[in-house]
Amino acid sequence: MIKALFVTLKNLFVKPVTLQYPTQKMPMTERFRGLVDLHAEKCIKCGQCVKICPTLCLDLAVKEGADKKKDFEHFKYNMELCCFCGLCEQVCPTQAIYMGKIYEIAVYEHGKLHIDLLNAGKYDEWAHPTVK
Ligand code: SF4
Ligand code: SF4
Repeated sequence: MIKALFVTLKNLFVKPVTLQYPTQKMPMTERFRGLVDLHAEKCIKCGQCVKICPTLCLDLAVKEGADKKKDFEHFKYNMELCCFCGLCEQVCPTQAIYMGKIYEIAVYEHGKLHIDLLNAGKYDEWAHPTVK
């Protein structure tokens, strides 16, 4: 009993190892694979990420731009199918597509899982979903 009391007393002054989630969050590690994201300005529209994706969740369409260069028609990401393998990031020659750090991705509607990678504010809702 004295031993147990000693343990209790000792732990009264130790910093807790737990976090007050969701108001406090662990920073994700460098190699963590969260939602896929895109630096659109770096993308050369080669389509290699689309070809290598094992679940066919990336959909890129290009058109000819005003300067005869390739331009985006759309670049969509079906998060519902993504297995977070990271192959798209590995194969991209310009590091345009990458695995982000967002992991809180519960939604009520299927439509929200179909992401427009060209929309700059696509992940605003999930970036800080619970911290007020
Ligand atoms: S992480 Fe894997 S499954 Fe998800 S988009 Fe990239 S290649 Fe496809
Ligand atoms: S592999 Fe990279 S550069 Fe090529 S289309 Fe995909 S994101 Fe763009």
